[in-house]
Amino acid sequence: MEIVRREGPITGEQIAERLHLTRATLRPDLAILTMAGYLEARPRVGYFYVGHKMGEVIGDRLRKMLVKDYKAVPVVIGESMSVYDAIVTMFLEDVGTLAVVKDQGILVGVVSRKDLLKVAIGAQNPREVPVGLAMTRMPNIITTTPEENVYEAAKKLIDYQIDSLPVVRPVDPGAKQFEVIGRFTKTTITRIFVELGSNRDL
Ligand code: ADP
Repeated sequence: MEIVRREGPITGEQIAERLHLTRATLRPDLAILTMAGYLEARPRVGYFYVGHKMGEVIGDRLRKMLVKDYKAVPVVIGESMSVYDAIVTMFLEDVGTLAVVKDQGILVGVVSRKDLLKVAIGAQNPREVPVGLAMTRMPNIITTTPEENVYEAAKKLIDYQIDSLPVVRPVDPGAKQFEVIGRFTKTTITRIFVELGSNRDL
């Protein structure tokens, strides 16, 4: 590939010469590189370097990875629990965002660290303020689904400047109510990033 990139268009014969190999020895390698789309062969002209742009490779890869294969377990709290309970749950579960639910795990809101800090520095007693008063409420919650790809989900975190998306599925035909079935967070993205980084044949 280096030879073709430097000297292309170049014939198979000439590449073989540079490598001190016969044309026949080289043929299967050239066939593989052509089929994989790295080189292009034009009759009577020779081989051209096409290559894959790194961004295309990573973009394609991310769009094939689905939220359902990377999501974390949901961490939820009932709407009537207190801000104090929410803070304790965050410490116990070691998360920065909680999904707030009503009966049967139906999503009603999301509460983040700063939402709770706001109450904590205010005049009210965190044990007496229901978490429902501190949270961001439906329908203003940005969510993802198991079938969405991780690129689209990550883009939502950036576009809306948030740390976490509840992974949901609709429970009614009109899709007005959603059950929380997971969590997709900045940590999830970091894990995907490390996995991609360790895969050296990407
Ligand atoms: P923090 O500000 O605590 O670091 P976020 O950046 O995630 O955490 O939250 C910023 C604000 O956005 C908070 O008010 C929070 O309630 C809200 N928020 C967090 N996640 C979502 C979401 N998925 N959809 C809508 N609003 C959200």
